[in-house]
Formats: sequence, structure tokens, C-alpha cells
Amino acid sequence: MRKEATPDFFGRTREELAELLRSDFSQEAPFRAAQIYEWLYARRARTFAEMTNLPRALQRALEERFAIPSLITQHVSESADGTKKFLFGLEDGRSIETVLIPSEMRGERMPRRTLCVSTQVGCPLDCKFCATASLKLKRNLTTAEILLQIFEVERVTGEAVTNLVFMGMGEPMLNYDNLVRALRIITDPKTAMLGARRVTVSTSGLPDGIRNFANEGLNVKLALSLHATTNDLRTRLMPINKRYPLEEVLSAMEEYYKITGRPVTYEYIVFDGLNDTPADAARLAKIARRVPSRVNIIPFHPIDFTHPTGFAAELRPAPKAAFDRFIAQLRKAGVTALVRTSSGKDIEAACGQLALAELQEKPVVLDVKI
Ligand code: SAH
Repeated sequence: MRKEATPDFFGRTREELAELLRSDFSQEAPFRAAQIYEWLYARRARTFAEMTNLPRALQRALEERFAIPSLITQHVSESADGTKKFLFGLEDGRSIETVLIPSEMRGERMPRRTLCVSTQVGCPLDCKFCATASLKLKRNLTTAEILLQIFEVERVTGEAVTNLVFMGMGEPMLNYDNLVRALRIITDPKTAMLGARRVTVSTSGLPDGIRNFANEGLNVKLALSLHATTNDLRTRLMPINKRYPLEEVLSAMEEYYKITGRPVTYEYIVFDGLNDTPADAARLAKIARRVPSRVNIIPFHPIDFTHPTGFAAELRPAPKAAFDRFIAQLRKAGVTALVRTSSGKDIEAACGQLALAELQEKPVVLDVKI
């Protein structure tokens, strides 16, 4: 796995900031690192001048050497169901999308506000059903850019995010170091952002990444984009399966469970005539029983706006009857199967539809409507 550089400043973990102070600001008292950490991630200072409990000289020295980056909200689209899609400009002129999905859950006191964050600009993986694939990989996001998606959404909407899913653009495990660094900061009680149990990372299935992730002690949830129960079909849908076939990916998930003791999630898009037969459901149930797990069934969200060709152009969502039959069979087999709702489909903000940011040729409009 490629090693990502340590962030200059913003994006450093508590330990990394302490290290920076020790090495480059050795005349400063060690507790300054904790103060800076709190300013950056808990109080969300946007300038060093705001860090009023730091000596002026240190503020100035930091100012000279570092900048606190920000994301620029270029556009917010709002769906009829309340989902909001944010188009964020990055400092190098590229853009990413982040989706905020409000939902009322039965039995829960507070409404949820789930944020779906991106980890890469584009994605190198070429899954045939996913719009982001059409962008190819532009670059990894920095730790700062991952964190700032949360900060900016909370700042613009004035409300806290309650749940976080790493299911936006990109493959999180291919930006491993920045993913883990962001998760350490997000789940650190000192930043008061989010409890680990409210965070889910979704992966297309990179066995080394899954195993390493199990050993990070992060306590977040892990979901695998499964989508097929045979290597033949999975390779057609997700070319990465050729390199890491099902058996390797599933045994990595098993190991993940053994190491963390946490049930895993499998995501499964039901396609018409491809993976929606009783035999598919039976194989999926068998996979789901290997370790404690739940299965998230996702309706296929068409991606016609990317002008797919070949196999990708043939993909269709399973008709309702087949979809319902599939879920009923899973449940009968004792599988915990939940249907993922298609929030934000009307603004192309549903799972797998994030690509517009870079695909649209016209300049972005600045009509932030919240
Ligand atoms: N790269 C990661 C995370 C991004 S995708 C992964 O592969 O898991 C987030 C989820 O949306 C994945 O389960 C993905 O398979 C699913 N998805 C992608 N395209 C979709 C589409 N067109 N319709 C429904 N779900 C889709």
C-alpha cells in the first residue's frame, strides 16, 4: 500500500501534532500540542489568531509556516426527501461530492443525519454499476479534505452530523493512511465528533486493507460491497475481483470478525436477471452465516447520465416482485436483511451516483440554498 505523507499540520492526529511540536517547536511546552489539537478539531478554529490561549509568538510562528485549509461549498442541491448533496471545491480546483441524508428511525429519540463522505477524487476500480468509476482516479483526498467534509456540512447547515458512512466517491482502503488518520481524529472523544459505532467504512474488498484495518483498534463498522456470490459474475461487475477473488475477500472478512468481534455488513445490489435468483439468495445466505453479519440490500440506481457502454449499459434494477422475493428468502434463511433506501435519487445523490461534480462541463452555479 502506498504510504501517504504525514499532513503538514491540519489533519495530524494528536500524537502527530505532539511529535511536530517536539521536533520543530522544542522550546514550547508539550501541552501546547493538546491545545492546538483542541482548537483544530473540537473548536474548529479557522485561523491561528483564534487560538487565544497560545502565546502570540507561537501563533505567529505557526501562521508563517502553515495554513488551515478549507473546502469551498460551490453548490448544494436538495432532494424532495430532504437529502442534500454538496459540491465542494478543493484547493487544487478539483471537486468532490458529499451527501447528507436525514432520516427518522423508529425507536430512536433523535432524527439521524447521516453523512456520506468521499475518500478519493474519482476512483480507479471501474465497478460497472458505479458512476464514480467513469471519472477514473484523479487523486487521493488528504486527511484534511476527509475531515473538512464533516466540518463544512455542519458549518453550512448549522446542525451536527450523527452518523458517518465512507460510501462516497472512491475506495477508502486505497487511501488507507489518510482514512485511518481521519478516523482516529473523528472517533477521539477529545474532538467530540462521533462515536466509533456511528461510523461505517465500505470497501470493495481489498484483503490486505481489511486485515490491517482489523488491527487498528478503531471499533468502527466495516461493510463489504459483495453484489455477487460467484467469482464469474463478481468479476464482471467488479473487475477488482479478478485480483482478489471472493474466497480471499470473505476469509479476510472472517478474520476481521475474529480480531474485532464486530459483526460485518455485506452490501448487495439486486440486478434484474443477474443476481436475483433463488440460487443467488441461497448462496448469499450461506456467505452471510459464516460470521455474524447483516446484509444491506440496495436497489440499483441507474447511472445513464454517465453514458455507460457494453455490460454496464445492460444493468437494470430487479423488478419489485423479484426484489421482494429475494429479501423474503434471505430472511427465511435467518439472515438479517435490510433494505437501503434510495435517498436523494432525484438529485443523483443516491449510492453510486456521485460523479456529476467532475462530469459536468458547465461552470458550477453558486446558489447555496439550505
Ligand atoms: N468503494 C467503496 C465505497 C463507495 S460505494 C465500496 O465499493 O464499497 C458505496 C456503496 O454504493 C457500495 O456498496 C457500492 O457498491 C454501492 N453502489 C455503487 N454504485 C451503485 C449504484 N449505481 N446503485 C446502488 N448502489 C451502488
